Amino acid sequence: MARAWHLMSRPKGLPTADNFALKELAEAPLGDGQIRVANRWLSVDPYMRGRMNDVKSYVPPFQIDAPMDGGAVGEVVESRAQGLSAGDHVLHMAGWRDEAVIDAKAATKLPDLGVQPQAFLGNLGLTGGTAYFGLLEAASAREGDIVFISAAAGAVGSAAVQIAKAKGMTVIGSARGPDKCDFVRSLGADAAVDYSAGPIVKSLSAAAPNGIDVYFDNVGGDHLDAAFALARQNARFAICGMIDSYNSGEPAAFRYIMRVIAMRIRMQGFIYTDYLPRLGEFHRDMGQWIAAGQVQSRDTVVEGLERMPEAFLGLFEGTNTGKMLVKV
Ligand code: NAP
Repeated sequence: MARAWHLMSRPKGLPTADNFALKELAEAPLGDGQIRVANRWLSVDPYMRGRMNDVKSYVPPFQIDAPMDGGAVGEVVESRAQGLSAGDHVLHMAGWRDEAVIDAKAATKLPDLGVQPQAFLGNLGLTGGTAYFGLLEAASAREGDIVFISAAAGAVGSAAVQIAKAKGMTVIGSARGPDKCDFVRSLGADAAVDYSAGPIVKSLSAAAPNGIDVYFDNVGGDHLDAAFALARQNARFAICGMIDSYNSGEPAAFRYIMRVIAMRIRMQGFIYTDYLPRLGEFHRDMGQWIAAGQVQSRDTVVEGLERMPEAFLGLFEGTNTGKMLVKV
């Protein structure tokens, strides 16, 4: 019997195991144009926390006591759709479950690029694409720029570090703890700052004595404030995420925000899906960087559908290095 995680109550603050339940799904017959997919890899992403609140946003909230969804890669086990047959691997959004019956048009057949299928949930998927368009389009980052990237040991951050290096930028990444900072340097970053060792504004000013041209924000809060403090004239900020406040819901206070005026900082929020019509450019460049070894993937794999909430909660505790995935 197929099973799916359901959201049973809306969390206040950091979610707990009680907010979720793993339930059996009713047997779903296959209609015309549909496929049955055995999920192999499931993605957990910080944006899913926002979907647990009953608020209007760029993606609808999860419904209470209904199957949750999210990015997934699986193998077609049965097909009543043209162009897809048993054995094909597909990318789709019916995650948080081990098996899904979906319309074939809601699935993308994975191209054979000689990479592991789960790469389409990471560097060749949402997280890599977010790093690529956020850095190069939202922030207009260019060769020679000094770039600060927060949560640099995470999925989006580690991709952004490597793309920035491939494009000839100077990169400073932030992460929690010496091991993650070593990892950020191993990706090619010129410097890594451990934000858990002291105020980030101090470590960033030591790592970037001449200031920064670009900030790629995954964290918000004190990281964004430090970027305001260090911004050079005409700095550009890509506002990708603010994980620091996803659970607290508290507004952050900014000591240095008035430097937006003096330094003519341009801040650009963006959503990955804004760039879906341009995925071809991303796949071309990312495919080349991966083939040349300039972009490498590191995954943190949690085994078993039963452990999906644990993997999700790990994002807020920083238990992942690189992309957090659940292997079904
Ligand atoms: P991730 O970075 O792989 O995982 C989250 C990481 O954030 C953790 O490993 C942890 O690393 C760090 N973190 C957690 N709480 C923190 C806090 N309070 N302060 C500082 N760091 C904290 O996740 P991801 O999927 O790559 O997402 C990164 C950001 O991009 C998130 O804000 C997400 O919402 C955003 N995002 C935006 C888009 C878009 O379209 N705009 C798309 C995808 C993702 P440490 O151990 O180093 O603290």
